[in-house]
Amino acid sequence: MANIGYIQVNRYCNNQCHFCSNPSNWNNISLERWIELIDDFIKREYSWIIFTWWEPTLSPDLAKWINYANDVWMENRMISNGMMCSDYNFTKKLADAWLKLVHFSVYSCHEKIHDFLTDTPGSWKKLMMSITNALKLWVRVQINTVINHYNENHLDKTVKFLTKHFPQIKHFVWNNLDPLMMRKTKTALSTLPNYDEASKSLLKAMAYLDSTNRTFRVERFPLCYMRWYEWASTETRKIVKDEERMVHFLDERETIRQNWLWWEHDKLEWCKKCDLNSICSGIFEYKNYYNYVKVYPQKLSISEKEELIKKIKGKF
Ligand code: SF4
Repeated sequence: MANIGYIQVNRYCNNQCHFCSNPSNWNNISLERWIELIDDFIKREYSWIIFTWWEPTLSPDLAKWINYANDVWMENRMISNGMMCSDYNFTKKLADAWLKLVHFSVYSCHEKIHDFLTDTPGSWKKLMMSITNALKLWVRVQINTVINHYNENHLDKTVKFLTKHFPQIKHFVWNNLDPLMMRKTKTALSTLPNYDEASKSLLKAMAYLDSTNRTFRVERFPLCYMRWYEWASTETRKIVKDEERMVHFLDERETIRQNWLWWEHDKLEWCKKCDLNSICSGIFEYKNYYNYVKVYPQKLSISEKEELIKKIKGKF
């Protein structure tokens, strides 16, 4: 099992994404607490830790933390908006501390759309420079994209753009928009995606990545919207493999241990007729935000379902 721990290292950012799911509270983690959390992950035999939200590169101690994680042989990576790493010397400090993997958040291949979503002019150009710097310094780069209304029709174009300019990138992650804690402004609410539209370009993007031997994962998206690529659903993989995730927040939630119960979102009456029901997480936040989303019950033979489960468990 590959259990993953997430540690929020700070809660402030130099972008202002309309749909940010972890609003600023200006908290920072202390070095002592950091060491305590990593040691706890080691005891629990977790395989990875991820430094995250808002923006880990704004923490002056980041290189120290990476060093410590490496010293105790804990695999680590960070999720970043790609603003600070546009400075080559800054990225070099992280590379010198043996940062091996970074996930950069790219919302679109179109500069204007990315800058609109981050509410930060110039953020797309800096992000592209950050990817360039990290790759030059042999730090592996993967891409995270929040699926939302403004990129739902060109998810495929975005991966094609990125793999054309940065062929070394081999892994992509799509997170469907999490509206729970985002700002409730008119603009923020306008980012909620149309699932049917997003599904069309997501399926094309997955087919393209598959055909070029790249890998990908999709989070918070019901399986009927990613037919034939169900094995790439983060929640489905966790349900099938019985994996857990632990997240240390820097707010009143403090620590949340996410097991298979956590991966089950909302199901509709029609889901009862669906052959994917037992391994599908359903619709995230259906009642409060996504009540306009329809579901499409699927029919699978027993052998089709068995093959899907074997694929997730890595048996072929
Ligand atoms: S119909 Fe329901 S159970 Fe079936 S894939 Fe869609 S959301 Fe999942």
